[in-house]
Amino acid sequence: KKLSSSEIRQMYLDFFHEKGHTIVPSASLVPVDDPTLLWINSGVATMKKYFDGSVVPDNPRMTSSQKSIRTNDIENVGRTARHHTLFEMLGNFSVGDYFKKEAISWAWELLTSPKWFGWDPEKLYMTVYPKDTDAAKFWEATGVKPDHIIKIEDNFWDIGQGPSGPDSEIFYDRGESFNNLAADDPENYPGGENERYLEVWNIVFSQFNHTPEGTYEPLPRKNIDTGMGLERVVSIFQNAPTNFETDLFLPIIHKTEALSAGKVYGKNKQDDVSFKVIADHARAITFAISDGALPSNEGRGYVIRRLIRRAILHGQKLGLTDTFLDQLVPIVGEIMQSHYPAVLKNADYIAKIVHSEEVRFNETLNDGLSLLNQLIAATKKAGEETLSGVDAFKLYDTYGFPFELTKEYAGDEGLKVDEPGFELEMKAQRDRARNARSNAKSMGVQRSLLIELKTPSEYVGYDHLTAVKGDL
Ligand code: ATP
Ligand code: MG
Ligand code: MG
Ligand code: MG
Repeated sequence: KKLSSSEIRQMYLDFFHEKGHTIVPSASLVPVDDPTLLWINSGVATMKKYFDGSVVPDNPRMTSSQKSIRTNDIENVGRTARHHTLFEMLGNFSVGDYFKKEAISWAWELLTSPKWFGWDPEKLYMTVYPKDTDAAKFWEATGVKPDHIIKIEDNFWDIGQGPSGPDSEIFYDRGESFNNLAADDPENYPGGENERYLEVWNIVFSQFNHTPEGTYEPLPRKNIDTGMGLERVVSIFQNAPTNFETDLFLPIIHKTEALSAGKVYGKNKQDDVSFKVIADHARAITFAISDGALPSNEGRGYVIRRLIRRAILHGQKLGLTDTFLDQLVPIVGEIMQSHYPAVLKNADYIAKIVHSEEVRFNETLNDGLSLLNQLIAATKKAGEETLSGVDAFKLYDTYGFPFELTKEYAGDEGLKVDEPGFELEMKAQRDRARNARSNAKSMGVQRSLLIELKTPSEYVGYDHLTAVKGDL
């Protein structure tokens, strides 16, 4: 079946609605009342209050398509076929209601029934936790062949304390042509990943309480939490070699081609990585800003800044020297309109923020890049393998290069960067800022109030946030 991404998302929600689930809207990417998380990174992250029992849901069965950001995957983007910074996680949840048997038989029905996904059962492989004989039994009961059920020791979801349990992951066999993608193309797949078996769905059976003493006690009320990557599912439906050749990304890529005046997607591997990174990051920053986050030097804001600057550097590689990311914002809004109408409504506002961030970085970019290239050349010439922390700090402080960008850029040239040295410089700068502030305070309450009012908001914010982070 050739379905659009909107139809596929809706099909998942409709299926679980038919099974008695309430369809809940995608929550904000900015976590509410949860200081442990920088971004919502999964469907279940929005359900904590139900799973820990502090709030009782109206209906213990819920389903959603949850926008999620995973910063740990930033460097995978464009290099694997399947990772994004922003992606949507389809999920169904049972809060102390149905458990393993239903979760498994419904998963199978959704994936293989001609009325729903209608996928070929031969292409599906289920992994289970070796000791979880129930899961294996329920899969077999649906009709999955024993040699398509694979035992894997890693299939246990545990964050150290609290609810935990075995999980079962579903892989889709994309066929032999994907077999040696990594081996044949080490440059694009440096992780050596095999892209043939694509992980599409993770079903977690949370049935134990991992106690502080390190034991696993059965939970009186067992929960189901699942996560299916929409972009991956769409790539299967639309028969795309990677998530990027789908209706979720192609319009962004085509707009980037048009702006680049001459570069074409699919002609050159290096350029393709840049197209993919730009399309991915354009989505992430658009959604993050739409949910109220703003570029800055700390926390969430720093992630946005880093993504914008990383996208700009890839834009340079495609010859995009003027602002361009702002023009991708409305395209993202249009693609996602059916499920996320707020993004298109906010598009003008988002584009303005992105534009000013681009202008700001562009002002120093060329100077920064030529300095970076000089430093790399000098380091190599001296026969050294590591760029100094002082140099990395100068690039950060004077030219706005996030440390990770310097590291990536230097990495492309075969160099490491001295991270402890960089941290030392950062700490010295924070100490200077703090001293300047406490000197000002000592001049008396009245005056300090005045000074605080006059202090540029950026400066106050910076100091305040580092204090919150607890490293003062
Ligand atoms: P992978 O092994 O491919 O990195 P994961 O095991 O880290 O995935 P889970 O934490 O199990 O992923 O999340 C549930 C589902 O969400 C995955 O099966 C996948 O379909 C999707 N997913 C996870 N991370 C990403 C990502 N960075 N981009 C797109 N989809 C993702
Ligand atoms: Mg992962
Ligand atoms: Mg995995
Ligand atoms: Mg997984």
